[in-house]
Amino acid sequence: MIQTISDIFATVQGWLFETLVQPLVFATGMGEFVEEAFTGTEWVLVGVCELVILFVILRPLESIIPVHAISNPRARWNDFIYTVLQRLGVIPILAFLILDPVLSIAAEALHLEGWGTFNLDQVWPGVTDLALVSFFLYLIVIDLFEYGYHWAQHNVRWMWALHSLHHSQQDMNLWSDDRNHVLDDLVHDIFLGLVALAIGVEPSQYILLVSASRMLQSLQHANVRIHFGRIGEYLLVSPRFHRTHHAIGIGHESRGRNSLGGHNFAVLFPIWDVLFRTAHFAQGFAMTGVRDQLPPPAGRSRDYGQGFWRQQWLGVKRMIESSRKKVR
Ligand SMILES: [Zn+2]
Ligand SMILES: [Zn+2]
Repeated sequence: MIQTISDIFATVQGWLFETLVQPLVFATGMGEFVEEAFTGTEWVLVGVCELVILFVILRPLESIIPVHAISNPRARWNDFIYTVLQRLGVIPILAFLILDPVLSIAAEALHLEGWGTFNLDQVWPGVTDLALVSFFLYLIVIDLFEYGYHWAQHNVRWMWALHSLHHSQQDMNLWSDDRNHVLDDLVHDIFLGLVALAIGVEPSQYILLVSASRMLQSLQHANVRIHFGRIGEYLLVSPRFHRTHHAIGIGHESRGRNSLGGHNFAVLFPIWDVLFRTAHFAQGFAMTGVRDQLPPPAGRSRDYGQGFWRQQWLGVKRMIESSRKKVR
């Protein structure tokens, strides 16, 4: 079954590349990037598959078991635009143009430092021989770095200035995972690319790792009443667990027994929140948003923008302001 799917995928990728992408690359005088364009075709195709699966599975679920009625359809439509830009390659291509030279320099530096062959297999010989084992191992290691990055997004001022755009969605839905500031996406993609390079992930496996993670994150943001039960909630981040992260007063700003601000930073595996004492297994499905969006006296009716360009512009403004004062 998996073999058949991957055969069909390879055939479609080859056809698309030969009939459309390759002629376009040469026609625009970008012949030197033909190899990268082939990989790019794979990313776009994976993105199309993701969009179709999300729409077919999650959209009906949002109608059957919603947490709340969507009050602002325009906000959801706007998140959909983010998802299309992200998964069909506009933002990744932008990131790639910056990422490729950065990664080449990093790869060279690692090689010079004698790190060129460093990977998980060296730490634990033979462990990555089985494709499935190495897939899950890389998924877990990358997820630990993702936890750290997400924690920083909430605790480093300029990063929160950008990440707060993601949290400002009060009608969280299946497309909200991609509602991020473009600068935030770029920094994140470079960070993740460097981590993958440092632990020796093969490019062919990297795309699958990213895709699996993205699908699960779309589920987490969907407007669905889903949790994974007493034990399951500890194993995989559920829509309820992540919704708690988006809740005003709990997820992204509260200070519990630990000294960290906020809860539920884990991207895929809640175990990191348990280990670092930031887990909060709430029973209810919280409403979402950022405190300063609320009207006074609770907040100050802060505007995060409705459309893409306005949201991006306000994000840059918040980032500049954050260098002068605290933005929470
Ligand atoms: Zn967050
Ligand atoms: Zn989120």
